[in-house]
Amino acid sequence: MDMIPSFSVDHTRIVPGIFTSRVDVLGDQKVTTYDVRVTRPNTEPAVDVAAMHSLEHLIATYLRNDPDWKDQVIYWGPMGCLTGFYLILKGNRESKEIFDLVLRAFRSVEQAEDVPGAFPENCGNYRMHNLEMAKWHARKFADYLAGNEGSPEIFEYPKSERLVTGDGRAFFDS
Ligand SMILES: [Zn+2]
Repeated sequence: MDMIPSFSVDHTRIVPGIFTSRVDVLGDQKVTTYDVRVTRPNTEPAVDVAAMHSLEHLIATYLRNDPDWKDQVIYWGPMGCLTGFYLILKGNRESKEIFDLVLRAFRSVEQAEDVPGAFPENCGNYRMHNLEMAKWHARKFADYLAGNEGSPEIFEYPKSERLVTGDGRAFFDS
């Protein structure tokens, strides 16, 4: 069963939110990749790279310690465009069903006193962190989510035809 969607995402119409990016089948298990989009692409500043790195550490640590969800988490990591994160979970849930988890994870950043694992033994670039800006972005996104829980557009991507490159290959950014 091929579950890879044939649509692409119209980035000119994306608002921040929590979106199902793709569903893959591995053996008899489904695995879902979510885009957790923190800023509006190309119309507001993306997250600076040091804050993004700190949010990667802080939220990965939160998700992998959450008693209800830690066994479901396969991956958490930043998008190359610095406008959001990829979250890969076991199973196939509507993006709405992880709203509370994502909101709690971003709210948890506010309490952080340091960035976990920001040491040369644990991290490939331990000097490149910015906890204060990570908190600023986390608070902004959490407030946005809390204020827009009832808006379908924060859970459903605007679709477009998948781009085909000049030499005939389908374009993917992840
Ligand atoms: Zn690191």
